[in-house]
Formats: sequence, C-alpha cells, structure tokens
Amino acid sequence: MIENGQLLNYVNGAWKRSRASEFLDVRNPATAETMVRVPLSPSDEVDEAVQAAQSAFPDWRSTPPVQRIQYLFKLKKLLDDHFDEIARLTVDECGKTMDESRGELQRGIENVEVATGIPMLMQGYNSEDIARGIDEHMFRQPVGVVAAITPFNFPGMIPLWYLPYAIACGNCFILKPSEKVPMTMSRVFDLIDELGLPPGVVSLVNGSKGAVDALLDHPAVRAISFVGSSPVARYVYSRAAANGKRAQCAGGAKNPVVVLPDADMEMATRIIADSSFGCAGQRCLATSVTITVGEAGREFRDRITRVAEARKVGYGIEPEVEMGPVITPESKQRVESLIGKGVNEGAKVLVDGRNASISGYERGNFVRPTVLDNVNPRSEIAGIEIFGPVLSLMHAQTIDEAIEFVNATSYGNMACLFTTSGAAARKFRYEVQAGNIGINIGVAAPMAFFPFSGWKESFFGDMHAQGRDAIEFYTEKKVVVERWPREWSRKF
Ligand code: NAD
Repeated sequence: MIENGQLLNYVNGAWKRSRASEFLDVRNPATAETMVRVPLSPSDEVDEAVQAAQSAFPDWRSTPPVQRIQYLFKLKKLLDDHFDEIARLTVDECGKTMDESRGELQRGIENVEVATGIPMLMQGYNSEDIARGIDEHMFRQPVGVVAAITPFNFPGMIPLWYLPYAIACGNCFILKPSEKVPMTMSRVFDLIDELGLPPGVVSLVNGSKGAVDALLDHPAVRAISFVGSSPVARYVYSRAAANGKRAQCAGGAKNPVVVLPDADMEMATRIIADSSFGCAGQRCLATSVTITVGEAGREFRDRITRVAEARKVGYGIEPEVEMGPVITPESKQRVESLIGKGVNEGAKVLVDGRNASISGYERGNFVRPTVLDNVNPRSEIAGIEIFGPVLSLMHAQTIDEAIEFVNATSYGNMACLFTTSGAAARKFRYEVQAGNIGINIGVAAPMAFFPFSGWKESFFGDMHAQGRDAIEFYTEKKVVVERWPREWSRKF
C-alpha cells in the first residue's frame, strides 16, 4: 500500500507507516520518473514483524494443513483476477515487457498452486516393528518464523518461490523485497490482506542491508531464503549459518550455451536470442555465453547478429517492444563499461548496444542487444556476470572442448545444448557441472514442482527453492520411536 507517495510495511496483519529516517526513490527505468518512495526500515521494525510472527505461530502451526491451504486457493483467485494490473507494476518498476511480466507472475502463481498440495506433500512416514513391539514414525513440523530476501529482477515470481510453501507448512513468513522494485509485492500484499489470514502469519518489511542484517541476527528467525548476487548470497549464507539458522541462498550466474553443427540453427538462434536479450539480459538464467562447435560458428554468428540488430527496444508497455531497459543508470554504466573491457581484452564487437537512445525515452536506462565475438575463455569478461543484454561468442573444436569451457566457469546455474544428437545430449547432461540443464531449451527454468537447482557459486546451501526441497526446507523432521508391549493390552 502507498500513502502520501510512500510505501508502507505490512506487519501484524495491518499496513503501517515506517519510522525510517532513510528513503529511496523507486524510478521507472524506462522513463526515469519517480513513482514512489521506499523506506529503509530500521531493525526495530523488523523486530516488530518477528514478534508478530512468533505470536501467530502456535495457533497457525496447529491449524490443520487442509485449512491453511484454503487461503492459498483464495490467493490464487485474487492473483488471477488482478493478473494484468500486477504485471503492469512489474513493467513500470522493473523495465520488463508486458509479456515478460505476465510470464514471471504466472510462474509465481504456479508455486501457489503446487503448495496447495501440502497436506500430502508434508506427510511423514513410518515403519511398524523396527524391533519386536516397537514402531518408528517421522513427522514433519514447521520450522517457526522464516524470512525471504529477494532481488530486483523477478519482483513477482521470486517471493512466490517461498511464501506459499512457508505458510502452507505452518510457518510464519516475513518478506524483505528488493528496495529497487518494492511495488509489485506491495500490491500482492494488498491482496493477501483480503485473505483474512491471522495477523502475523505473513509480513512485509521494506528496506535494504539494515533490514537484512536485522533478520539475519534475530534469534527468533529460524530460516532464511535469499536470492541475489553471489557476494551477497555468500555473506547472507555465512551470517545466517553463524547465527544457527537454516539458509538457502541463490546467487549469480554466467550461463553458457553450446551449439553443435547438427543443431537446428534457426531454432537455436531464435531461442538463444530470447534467452540472452529477454528481460534485457537480467535473468539469472539468461544465456551470456554461446560456445559454437566447429562449423556451427559462422552460421550462428551471422544469424545472431541479424537477430540482435533487429530486436525492438523500448518501454515495455508498448506491444511491439521486445526488450526494455536495465534497472538503473548505474547498471547501464556498468554493462557498458564491461563491454568496453571485453573489447580491450580482444573481443570483436559484432553488434554494439552502447549509447542507446530511444526516441521519447531519452532518460531511460537502455542498452541495446550486444554481441561480442572471439571472447577468450580465459579473459576476465568470460567469467564476470554482466547482467545486461550482452552475448559473448566463443568457439571450440569439439564438444569435449566446449564442455571444458562450460565447466571452467565458477558459476553453475544453467548450461544448455543445441543439437539433434541424443548421444551428445546425454554426454552434456552427464558431464556438465550446473544444476539446471537445457537441451534445445534457452531458459531451463524448473517448474514449481522441481527444485531451482543452481550449483557452485550460484548457490549456497543444501535445499533449493520450490518443489520437494521447499517442503524439506520449511519443515523439521521429528522421529518418534514407540514401544507398546503386547502384554499391556491384556488388561482390556
Ligand atoms: P543484490 O544481491 O544486489 O540484492 C539482493 C537482495 O539483497 C536485495 O533484497 C537487497 O536489498 C539485499 N542486499 C543487497 N546488498 C546487501 C548487503 N550488502 N547486505 C545485505 N543485503 C543486501 O541482487 P540484485 O541486483 O537485486 O539481483 C540481481 C542478482 O540476483 C544477479 O546476480 C542475479 O544472477 C541474481 N539472481 C539469482 C537467481 C537464482 O535463482 N540464482 C535468481 C534471480 C536473480
């Protein structure tokens, strides 16, 4: 909710004005217009949310799961009813196109749908007669107060990787959304407010590092979910672990795609262009490197150059626009300077997206699609996450050499292969060190009923977001061993 141009926090079942002394402007990245101010909430406001969650927990955990999920059915209906309105907020604060914003919200809603299966998903298991007259049971119980800290690039989807599972499992949940894109979740929480959940079951506290640290240090917060850049993911994971919390922290990426000479080149180019330039390259599953093998090189280079040059860039509310701006002026500057670094390191610019000016939106943070050729796999640009619409091309002689390049990266979020050979596909799937693999797919984003499985510097923790991992993360296992000797029943 917004009051006098300022976003409110949602704590203990009510919207509250923050007592913050610091605020940030939330700007539309296409127009530079300031839309609202977001408070950087102080730690005592985090504490209020945690206390409300603690008070709500005993009753919420004993509310039967079949009743808890009734709120999720209502939430799904409200999200569907307000679908385009929420997607439009994502366009305005995040810079995506309308279709991209709809797409991410849809993927978020799918997590609400999957979490309605919690009565079955959180069942335990048991064994009779582990010894004579002794039985053993495993029950799952909620963890308690849990929190999620989310990034700017999926304001609608990523909070929904967590919230539905957390509360369906009987936990009380606090969200700290990205201060760059706080409006989408503010609107979603308006809808959550209509659900009639008991106060304290869900809260939203706006802020940045101060609010994050308050969550990490609060003794009553039992589990932390984080998505963002790798240095912050590592920091959050370490501090949460040092404070005895369960943590799942997803980090950055540098996703390679390999194109073999037998690939369907038209399809590969179209899909890789969408993966590299969609969401202005600001997806953690964006393709940032394409490694062509053998004679795939020349054809792919020619095709991707044409496609990159033709991409329509602008404000995402316009239906013909295929790519919006990057998130901030600092981000634009960073992406452009990394393109320059690539050139200094010997790459050849096939398509140069720097110094873009979009008619009518001259103050927007636009970088056009950029293609760098002959990027040296050992250069700095080959390893850095650029997080903009920049595709680097590398060339390998064999699939083995390509897989070597793929595995040399410190990240392991996604790797994809384009081929018509099943044997090559199996080799790739088997040997590549990344957690999400695509075969003839450009954005191998797992559905809500599978884990989002980053490896290496792309993930710190054990249990990933979504799917069965979400139930593992949001429940404690309790094992009960019972002895009921047969002779005691003779009394009856
Ligand atoms: P970010 O790390 O700057 O911020 C993420 C969150 O951490 C925000 O809520 C922010 O307020 C908080 N934060 C930032 N600096 C902090 C600090 N020093 N201490 C404590 N908290 C801090 O990330 P971003 O720029 O919002 O998002 C882009 C990054 O997220 C990219 O690296 C992208 O690859 C990654 N990402 C990863 C996944 C994944 O699933 N692996 C998904 C989406 C985005």
